[in-house]
Amino acid sequence: MELANRVKTLTPSSTLAITAKAKELKQQGHDVIALGAGEPDFNTPGPILVAAEKAMNEGKTKYTPSGGIVELKQAIVNKFQKDNQLNYTKEQIIVTTGAKHALYTLFQVLLNEGDEVIIPAPYWVSYPEQVKLAGGTPVFIPAKEENQFKLTPQELEAAITRKTKAIIINSPSNPTGMMYNKDELKQLGDICLKHDLLIVSDEIYEKLIYSGEDHVSIAQLSPELKAQTVIINGVSKSHSMTGWRIGYAVGPNEIIKAMTSLASHSTSNPTSIAQYAALAAYQMDDSFNEEMKGVFSHRLERLYQLLTELPGVSCVKPEGAFYLFPNVQEAVRKSGFSNVDDWAKALLEEEKVALIPGSGFGAPNNVRLSYATSMEALEEAAKRIKHFILHYK
Ligand code: PLP
Repeated sequence: MELANRVKTLTPSSTLAITAKAKELKQQGHDVIALGAGEPDFNTPGPILVAAEKAMNEGKTKYTPSGGIVELKQAIVNKFQKDNQLNYTKEQIIVTTGAKHALYTLFQVLLNEGDEVIIPAPYWVSYPEQVKLAGGTPVFIPAKEENQFKLTPQELEAAITRKTKAIIINSPSNPTGMMYNKDELKQLGDICLKHDLLIVSDEIYEKLIYSGEDHVSIAQLSPELKAQTVIINGVSKSHSMTGWRIGYAVGPNEIIKAMTSLASHSTSNPTSIAQYAALAAYQMDDSFNEEMKGVFSHRLERLYQLLTELPGVSCVKPEGAFYLFPNVQEAVRKSGFSNVDDWAKALLEEEKVALIPGSGFGAPNNVRLSYATSMEALEEAAKRIKHFILHYK
């Protein structure tokens, strides 16, 4: 059967090849350390589980409004007021099946054939595919490592064409962990306003920041920017709820209305029980988040130290998320491998350490390591990577 053109150019997730190989080696009995995880290694907090069970027992197991239950929308309104000093109405919110599907639905309602979306690289792997699936054209701007992987206003201005419709800003970022400050966002925002670009602000890692800096949403900076921004967020990373699939988009009424309409014909609604669970997440105090942040911060410090001691490896120090994105170009060159993908494959085969090559994130000289795993595993992984590098030196 001939498949639709739209899926012919789909690239499978870059994490897949290495993850599949790591699984195979594990099954063969090898002691594999997997640093590919894109989710916190914490259990979903108890009060959330209790709320889900209660929802089930109370029969809240039927269709809900497509855009989400009113109580959860209100909790999200409250979250924006408290955390971001932003006032939205419930009509400006759609609850979705994870943040990923909020982005997917947004691009579907936003893009016409050939519309361009600016994606600063390194980027999260799903952005380009989602833009392409909606008929759009991803336009990549490589953000320089010496600029902490942050896009400069000049770089943005130079990439804008008559067809540019939107830009994605992901701060803190997956895969780099970098974060834009207020001034940087303001400068980028001014250019977006000048060219009438929609800003897609993916703030899913908002609650995982270790540098002491405050998270700033670009929508906070002026009413004009708020009117031009759709914020994407959710409970997956903040409350260790990746499997529950609850995210949301917040922004201009007409966009949210169109997204809700589309959702009514695609997902119908995010799982009812998971919505009540997410409501409970937003009724909790900060203690779970503080605990998780403390653990992540400790691991980040240690792994950063271990990685930057390795010959041929350099690393921009992340401020948030739970990834490090070191540049291994020098180590790869000295070891005689022709590219980072081959180097990472050999590292897995020889030392049984799985990390994700940066090529899938639009940064072929880097690798992504997740520290959403135990400190012992991180120490051992660093030891093995060192052994691997020294062996080939
Ligand atoms: N945005 C970024 C930058 C992510 O890293 C992820 C998950 O890895 C998502 C969105 C999707 O989150 P969710 O699990 O809520 O769909």
